[in-house]
Amino acid sequence: SDLGAYLRRYIRDIPDYPTKGVVFRDLTPLFKDATAFRSAIDGLSGRFRDLKIDAVVGVEARGFIVGAPVALALGTGFVPIRKPGKLPWRKRSTSYKLEYGVESMEIHEDAISSGQKVLLVDDLLATGGTARAAAKLIEEMGGTVLGMGFIVELVYLKGRDMLRDYRVESLVRIE
Ligand code: 5GP
Repeated sequence: SDLGAYLRRYIRDIPDYPTKGVVFRDLTPLFKDATAFRSAIDGLSGRFRDLKIDAVVGVEARGFIVGAPVALALGTGFVPIRKPGKLPWRKRSTSYKLEYGVESMEIHEDAISSGQKVLLVDDLLATGGTARAAAKLIEEMGGTVLGMGFIVELVYLKGRDMLRDYRVESLVRIE
């Protein structure tokens, strides 16, 4: 799309980061540019305007940068999912497998209530492991994940295969 091609110019490719053979997609040039940032947030929230979303959930840390403005655009509040040990109150956690090792994430026990319709957002979809784990956490609390929105999708990592049960939207598809 036009928006995708425009935003792609603000994504910097960093070879061999964080490890050799991996190309990291750096979105800080996009976040820094007022027009690109606004276009990304408008574009992403626009994909979900048809849904009656109750809450936007974002995963630490770049999911916060994207999630909070999307929540404001859709007229909802924002709920953070954080790395272990960061949330101050009673929480629920989940562990999920990565390529190497295990990760965990946490959410406050009262952050999602039964029957709530949730939009999950993050800056980038890679293997889909993070989004799937976050969705499981939301569903365990009785929430329904109506959609997942990403600025960038790394198509070659086939994250959508892991997210078959969900409506997945992305603005920039990198093949
Ligand atoms: P996944 O779980 O889909 O493999 O990885 C996605 C998560 O890792 C997201 O939270 C995303 O922020 C982060 N991530 C993985 N690879 C990249 C990358 O190349 N660029 C950025 N900006 N984030 C990445």
